[in-house]
Amino acid sequence: MSWQALFADSPDVLKRSPDDRIVVRAGNVAIGSGEFMVMAGPCSVETERQLLETAERVARAGAQVLRGGAFKPRTSPYSFQGLGLEGLRLLARARAATGLAVVTEVMAAADAPMVAEYADILQIGSRSMENYALLEAAAHTGRPLLLKRGMVATVADLLASAQCIFSHGNSQIILCERGIRTFETATRNTFDAAAIAVLESACRLPVIADPSHAAGLRELVPPLARTALAAGADGLLIEVHPHPDQAWSDGGQSLSLPDFDALMADLAPWRKLRAQQSQHACALEPVA
Ligand code: PEP
Ligand code: MN
Repeated sequence: MSWQALFADSPDVLKRSPDDRIVVRAGNVAIGSGEFMVMAGPCSVETERQLLETAERVARAGAQVLRGGAFKPRTSPYSFQGLGLEGLRLLARARAATGLAVVTEVMAAADAPMVAEYADILQIGSRSMENYALLEAAAHTGRPLLLKRGMVATVADLLASAQCIFSHGNSQIILCERGIRTFETATRNTFDAAAIAVLESACRLPVIADPSHAAGLRELVPPLARTALAAGADGLLIEVHPHPDQAWSDGGQSLSLPDFDALMADLAPWRKLRAQQSQHACALEPVA
């Protein structure tokens, strides 16, 4: 398959050779460097206690980045909309306490400089993937961006949005597969593992997976996480809450703290296997 032809609108984000990769750096973390990494935390920042408890625990379990929404895109205007600036301040406090880098969503172009003051990585949510004014403003902050695939976006659409960010002078882009809308209703979204494999093959940017929003159900998160790892993802974005049943958003898909510990333990042998395979692939390269 000629990716160059299929993704002709996005030339700068396509690989020019098999090992042409952009590594995204945030805090002490390198994403896409070959080491599988994990971002974890609550859907929404709720309270200082909730956030710090989660941050300390996910850090101990091996996550490198803390997630948490301060500006929340909610389907209903009557649902919790996020703590806004107070949420950003709590995230910065959690970073200071744990050393984790912070990723949080920016919803409005005008908010981009403020969110960039507090966060190490700016998340562009699924609903905003084609908000080009937001992509431009977020790109101009100079922060790495986590670009989530729109729920009705093709891989080509996702790459076109990445190209848009690139065209505004920011190449520090992490792509995220988070499930798409299909006729299936057993899961919240349909997890497109093939998209991960396509992106890993075609694109220079790191690719992570968000099994939480794809599944919509916490018991499906571990199998989808393993699937993402096997498909070649560079990392995961996982929703975790100290008391998922009391969460202010997305409790049904959030892992408890012990669930998250168990997921990380479950993934350990798979991560090791992946690392061995990529070493093997590197060793073979000069011969080929
Ligand atoms: C989120 O990460 O909390 C979120 C709202 O995700 P998405 O944009 O993928 O729905
Ligand atoms: Mn969520």
